[in-house]
Amino acid sequence: MKNKVVTMSKKFSKCRVCSDIHYGETGPALCPTCGSEEAYEEVEEIEAREAMGL
Ligand SMILES: [Zn+2]
Repeated sequence: MKNKVVTMSKKFSKCRVCSDIHYGETGPALCPTCGSEEAYEEVEEIEAREAMGL
């Protein structure tokens, strides 16, 4: 019986300008959505999920 607790410690980055979510500790230097430079900041998965509406 599989019942292991998976602790997700994934890191995400979120664009401060348009709230675009990028998987990984560091987002792209240039946001593909709004074009802002270095607008990504590291966020926890929970925050990333909220931003994505999950
Ligand atoms: Zn953006």
